[in-house]
Amino acid sequence: MFEKILIANRGEIAVRVARTARRLGIRTVAVYSEADAGAMHTEVCDEAYLIGGAAARDSYLHGERIIQVARKTGAQAIHPGYGFLSENAAFSRACHEAGIVFVGPPASAIEAMGSKSAAKTLMEQAGVPLVPGYHGDNQDDALLELEADRIGYPVLIKAVAGGGGKGMRIVEQRKAFRESLYGARREAKSSFGDDRVLIEKYLVRPRHIEIQVFADNNGNAVHLFERDCSLQRRHQKVIEEAPAPGIAEARRQEMGKVALKAAQAVGYVGAGTVEFIVDASGHFYFMEMNTRLQVEHPVTEMITGVDLVEWQLCVAGGQSLPLMQPALEHHGHAFEARVYAEDPGNGFLPAAGIISHLHQPRESAHVRIDTGVRAGDQIGINYDPMIAKVIAWDVDRASALRRLRSALAQYQLAGVKNNIAFLLNLTSMTAFEGADAEPSLLDTGLIERHGADLFPEAQPASNTVLALAVLSELLRERERARNLASASTDPYSPWHLSDGWRLNEDNHHTFGFIDDGRRVTVTAHYRAGGFLLVLPGGEMRVRGEGEGDNYIVADIDGGRVTATVVLEADALTVFAFGACHRLERQRLASVEDEEPGGLLVSPLPGSVAQVLVEEGQTVDKGQALMIVEAMKMEHTIAAPHRGRVAQIYYSAGEQVAEGAQLLAMEEET
Ligand code: ADP
Repeated sequence: MFEKILIANRGEIAVRVARTARRLGIRTVAVYSEADAGAMHTEVCDEAYLIGGAAARDSYLHGERIIQVARKTGAQAIHPGYGFLSENAAFSRACHEAGIVFVGPPASAIEAMGSKSAAKTLMEQAGVPLVPGYHGDNQDDALLELEADRIGYPVLIKAVAGGGGKGMRIVEQRKAFRESLYGARREAKSSFGDDRVLIEKYLVRPRHIEIQVFADNNGNAVHLFERDCSLQRRHQKVIEEAPAPGIAEARRQEMGKVALKAAQAVGYVGAGTVEFIVDASGHFYFMEMNTRLQVEHPVTEMITGVDLVEWQLCVAGGQSLPLMQPALEHHGHAFEARVYAEDPGNGFLPAAGIISHLHQPRESAHVRIDTGVRAGDQIGINYDPMIAKVIAWDVDRASALRRLRSALAQYQLAGVKNNIAFLLNLTSMTAFEGADAEPSLLDTGLIERHGADLFPEAQPASNTVLALAVLSELLRERERARNLASASTDPYSPWHLSDGWRLNEDNHHTFGFIDDGRRVTVTAHYRAGGFLLVLPGGEMRVRGEGEGDNYIVADIDGGRVTATVVLEADALTVFAFGACHRLERQRLASVEDEEPGGLLVSPLPGSVAQVLVEEGQTVDKGQALMIVEAMKMEHTIAAPHRGRVAQIYYSAGEQVAEGAQLLAMEEET
């Protein structure tokens, strides 16, 4: 086993690898970019070294510098985590040449599986079932179109070098083929530097089931059962689970055997995942093999009791697999939900900002939290916006789902837009809950089909939530007054009283909030020991105490309620009853006055990928005007109303700042 390893990654996965290393007594070296100075992963490791600028290519993708750090610090091995250099054959070779062990498969296996199309050819030869499609080298537009005709619509265009659902387009009809092809190529080029594509039959209502495999250098290979990753949005996994609901033992074993056949066909060593797409009748087809640890590996760890990172380190150190197939068992059920900094209400646009408050559920035998951030950390735009993974285990699926829901309800995050409420809605969806009894309910289109239920209209803050918000303000004010008084030369001065005492006035205080665009006012009248609040829905008697860390214990009309109310400069976030409500403080009362429409600004810093209109052109409401590429995704800027394009401020290829006005439109006269 190694004495010291370097972790060539950041965020939750770097922290997670360090956790196992520490448990095994292995010393760890972190590397970080300028944007990550002081980041959690640098603090949990024994040493940390700056390797370059914020852009991944200047730091986490800069193999040479990482190897230099490994040499300088005497790290014997490099664990690449997932993403970044984890599936980079050249890096794996460079490590080898530098006399450092790359914790991953041989470069040849990465290469064999790196191209989706080459991998398919190999798998075909090995007798692994494939989805009907075209995965040849010829990339001529007309030929690809002919192949799509041959396969039959709907088809799926995929980037040969793809990953994370990027560079993928579903095409329903021939007439949309070319436009989709160009879009897929553009996205593939910018994400992977390779615009080659393949075409597959698009399966209707499929499931995504993948098998965790593991092989060592001594000829042993096992599978650690399956994970179901069907709950996806835009082909990206959102919640994963193990085992797959409703899978028969015989099918599981069959998939495991085929996965091992796929791995052995490329001389695989280490941890890998063979992804299958499964049709409604249970037929499964090879999609791709990921030659690294997966984001969702914890669900496998929870049901098998195996620490996959420990196994990776054992195998990389030349040892045999700790357990062989007959000794591997699975118990109970596990879920993983991915918490992202993103805005589900706005097309899941990645969000950035400073985490002003973070309170995570307590870890236990049932709940595990893998995260790489703390309160006060900045979520930037340079890297993947995943904040944490909430993992829950229990003896059966229903119990595990209840645990997951409860953990998500306890997860408090403020300061950055996030998907926690969306995840909670997902875990409460009847179709998802019922997938155990009725597996056909679960498929990759579940989220799209239930869109409306998953994005409920924002409800106005309840009276209780408003009461908690006001109470928190009052308690803070009382605290402030007390501090002032104790610092003052005249602690008994009436000017330090915080009971709403005013000359010639009733003792009261009025608070104004903007709740999702609506103005709300609450008047607090000071009463002995508490307050009488006049709220939009009536009166309430409240009193309470702050208990530190924004936590308050309140008595509202005789009922005991606890909540966390986080104060930011312009807003209050109330966490209560397993939900979260954000109220803007009155200062920002201009929301309603803003003119809607005509605001054609870049949602994020990025670059203009395409300008689809010309100055002077008349466009319809909703028509695509420009495509901005930011965070490796394309964002369409659409016309907010029918009108004329008055001016175009940027052309294709130009950089744009967040909020930069891209075009101007005029109402048609
Ligand atoms: P990536 O490497 O970008 O993640 P994958 O090939 O793994 O791409 O596919 C991602 C997801 O796209 C799958 O989990 C599945 O939901 C969907 N998908 C892929 N291939 C097909 C197909 N032939 N038919 C229907 N859906 C598919």
